[in-house]
Amino acid sequence: MEKGDEKMKWMSFKHDGKEKYGIYLREEQAVAVVSDENDAPPTLVAAIEEGQFLESIPNNLKRLPRVDETTIEWLSPIPRPLKNVMCVGKNYRDHAIEMGGEASVPEHPMIFTKAPTAVSAHQAPIPAYESLTDALDYEGELAVIIGKKGKEIARAEALDYIFGYTVLNDVTARDLQSRHKQFFIGKSLDGTCPMGPWIVSKDEIGDPHILAIETKVNGETRQKSNTSQFIFPIDEIIHVLSKGMTLEPGDIIATGTPAGVGFAMEPKGTLQAGDTVDITIEGVGTLSNTVR
Ligand code: MG
Repeated sequence: MEKGDEKMKWMSFKHDGKEKYGIYLREEQAVAVVSDENDAPPTLVAAIEEGQFLESIPNNLKRLPRVDETTIEWLSPIPRPLKNVMCVGKNYRDHAIEMGGEASVPEHPMIFTKAPTAVSAHQAPIPAYESLTDALDYEGELAVIIGKKGKEIARAEALDYIFGYTVLNDVTARDLQSRHKQFFIGKSLDGTCPMGPWIVSKDEIGDPHILAIETKVNGETRQKSNTSQFIFPIDEIIHVLSKGMTLEPGDIIATGTPAGVGFAMEPKGTLQAGDTVDITIEGVGTLSNTVR
């Protein structure tokens, strides 16, 4: 068995019209249902916040009821975040340079956000918004899910505040992003923040700064890098964000995208209806979505 098969993959899904959460089991092509257990918190976020409940689950995995993968609808692991998704802009030097030249490499983490209503799931269609934008673009990113509340978090302790990691596509309408100066509108169209398919527990990842990341559009590699290329590592991002702002369980931090976005290609390789985007992060998984 590959090591990857043993990872705890926490996911949310819909089955028989009900929202549930559980653990994805690749070998069985099924989901072990956690949310039907006695005393289960109502959502994965509530369970992350509660903490102890989830700790007991891996030991009881064998007796949990299964549902077949083919009978579920994937949901974002966190279907409705409690606050905006926090995103680091220009956290890979090569992407900063492709978008704005050497002068745009930031000295401090550059943070913008995406509305909670933008969040969508693995396999959910990305709306093409043909009447709104001519420049819909992909950005493959590693996302951090915060596991416990904290403020003024020291760098040395920052990774202790993480619950796990997922894959996120920071889909961006480039023309709206520049027209409105602030990124918010261009980053927040409904369905432009696919994430998942699951959250891998942080213990299963070890060092998050050595993960290969690759984005393919219709099978063609567009982005290929490694989280070792971050300008600002995750502990620094958490430290900076939490200096005066409380981070809470379920908060999502997208860590930025490497070079190779469609807008920087010549000719431009932005997304069209029918395009499929697959983002793979080593040890985490592959997030797939098609533009419709
Ligand atoms: Mg981004």
